[in-house]
Amino acid sequence: MDNCIFCKIANKQIPSTIVYENDRVMAFKDINPVAPVHILIIPKTHIASVNDLDRDNVGVLVDIHLAAKEIAARLGIAEKGFRLINNCGPDAGQTVFHLHYHLIGGTCLGPKII
Ligand code: AMP
Ligand code: ZN
Repeated sequence: MDNCIFCKIANKQIPSTIVYENDRVMAFKDINPVAPVHILIIPKTHIASVNDLDRDNVGVLVDIHLAAKEIAARLGIAEKGFRLINNCGPDAGQTVFHLHYHLIGGTCLGPKII
């Protein structure tokens, strides 16, 4: 989609530090990390948010979770643990409207909100 920064990252029109990629998903370092490990995992196709998932495209969540598992193992944080976070919509603080999951870890994370 035009003017979507994460579509441009997926298409390699703008640079990112890619840590994982296959036909369907890409993962890259967050430009403003909040923890020693802060990776964004996105579908290569444009889906704006969880609100836009449906039976036809929801399979990408399987790929995103398998990517998260693989990345965590590669980075050595699988056993200690990590968070996989999605912000959906303005009240959740979503700022980029291309579906993404934050993989955060590498330190003892703060208190859980939920
Ligand atoms: P959210 O607030 O859940 O929409 O998260 C958007 C995330 O995208 C933020 O953590 C930003 O730091 C990150 N971000 C925005 N632009 C870029 C970029 N060009 N490369 C990497 N991360 C980015
Ligand atoms: Zn997009």
